[in-house]
Amino acid sequence: MSQQLGGQQILILKEGTNRTRGRDAQGMNITAAMAVASAVRTTLGPKGMDKMLVDTIGDVVITNDGVTILKEMDIEHPAAKMMVEVAKTQDDEVGDGTTTAVVIGGELLKKAEALLEQDVHPTIIAAGYRQAAEKAQELLKDIAFDVKPTDKAMLKKIAETAMTGKSAESSKDKLCELVVKAVTMVADADGTVDTDNIKVEKKTGGSIDDSEIVEGVLIDKERVHPAMPKKVTNAKLLLLNAAVEFKKTEVDAEINITHPEQLQAFLDEEERMVKGIVEKIVASGANVLFCQKGIDDIAQHYLAKAGIFAVRRVKKSDMEKLARATGGSLVSSIDAISKDELGKAGLVEERKVSGEEMTFVEQCKNPKAVSIIIRGGTEHVVDELERAIHDALRVVAVVVEDKKVVAGGGAPETELSLRLREYAASVGGRAQLAIEAFASALEIIPRTLAENAGLDPIDMLVEIRAAHEKGKKTYGLNVYEGKIIDMKAAGVVEPLRVKTQAISSAAEAAIMILRIDDVIASSKSPAPAPGAGGMPPGMGGMGGMGGMGDY
Ligand code: ADP
Ligand code: MG
Repeated sequence: MSQQLGGQQILILKEGTNRTRGRDAQGMNITAAMAVASAVRTTLGPKGMDKMLVDTIGDVVITNDGVTILKEMDIEHPAAKMMVEVAKTQDDEVGDGTTTAVVIGGELLKKAEALLEQDVHPTIIAAGYRQAAEKAQELLKDIAFDVKPTDKAMLKKIAETAMTGKSAESSKDKLCELVVKAVTMVADADGTVDTDNIKVEKKTGGSIDDSEIVEGVLIDKERVHPAMPKKVTNAKLLLLNAAVEFKKTEVDAEINITHPEQLQAFLDEEERMVKGIVEKIVASGANVLFCQKGIDDIAQHYLAKAGIFAVRRVKKSDMEKLARATGGSLVSSIDAISKDELGKAGLVEERKVSGEEMTFVEQCKNPKAVSIIIRGGTEHVVDELERAIHDALRVVAVVVEDKKVVAGGGAPETELSLRLREYAASVGGRAQLAIEAFASALEIIPRTLAENAGLDPIDMLVEIRAAHEKGKKTYGLNVYEGKIIDMKAAGVVEPLRVKTQAISSAAEAAIMILRIDDVIASSKSPAPAPGAGGMPPGMGGMGGMGGMGDY
């Protein structure tokens, strides 16, 4: 980047730096963000399609889940990354509605672009969008209805809506029952639900219908030695994050052995040391050992002899779940082993699940520990089931916490759109244009639901709008029959938080992107590709160059 000054060139930015300004910068950012939205649009709704993602080492993921798709895609453009963040925030806050959030964000930018073309200043659009987003929150609370956290039938419907369109669909009855049961089991008396208490364990083989719920924690590992007991009642668990083995020297020491007795002495020493560790474990009163690190052969032998049930190389996340469930602490060194650190469980048992041994830790000290075993034909199926269950667990938990739901199928978006238009008229001025744009952007949801179901989006939008104009606030699109029906009565319901969060994070990202009018990219970072067409690298800076005359 350089500047002419009396015939002299002054370099102010490092050579190779790309700079794009004004409308060019906005145009590029908007195009990139919209590209992200259009990438996930076809997956929206019950009739949405799946995507197959293949990573650089050839691993395949087949999914319908917005956030998973975007996480797997290697997105580089900074504005596009902001849209990925929208999906991630949605996933963290609610666990569902990720596609919705990104699609709304993309549409907000598309409508903004049209306004920019009419020379409406970006700050006016941003301010109008912010006003509209705030009003939308208020309106949404107005159209939401209450749910009792004990209303299991309703909770099941919420889980079902979250699962619709995923490959889990055929068995959703069974899976949603498990989900509702699991959430109600871990719900606190004060209404808070920590879904971290629910462990989802996948197992290929068997059918989806064999999936089950286990009160306790399930570890996908078997005991290390066949001579160990298969079942321990009144278990006292040691959760150890240190290896049970002979400590190898740090430096490469060479041991010169000249006599056979010396070798024996060396081996004896090794055995004595390992035996010492096992004795320490026994002395603590533990009868079950979960070790995050290794347990060597000699240690396995002595542990088996002492009648201890031991599992090695347990995942860190599993160790944390075990600590929570049994009330034990994670012990990080052999010296720290003591009876005060042990956890408690009524039963630890190794059992077969679809031909493979797993360790069940049941009747835990903390009764809120629950596991769901998901079964399914292939790895891709169980992976997608796991994602569907994750979404369903989260939405049910959110409703148990918030006790507020809205109808689905495009009903809330249509109602909001209508009311925001009325609101826009009352605001007047230039902001009115932006609020109206916001209102029509929300209709992307019913429109996309219709498109993905192979229905005529214009016809459907006209019909759904007409219903809402008549005051039928919960009417939405029955994607299977192409009819406008009462979604609440049909049992298509979603947590209110899915919508409030989707709209607020979509609006935030759109506003942030709109307010950028200067992109300065240093040469190392990838040049923001201008649009999908992709100009050669370096061209991105041309816009800025052209603008030089403005100085
Ligand atoms: P997201 O990632 O946004 O959750 P989904 O693919 O799960 O995307 O689609 C969610 C949309 O599908 C919501 O608008 C929801 O209301 C709608 N939907 C879910 N089930 C039905 C149904 N049975 N009929 C009509 N719309 C539905
Ligand atoms: Mg969903």
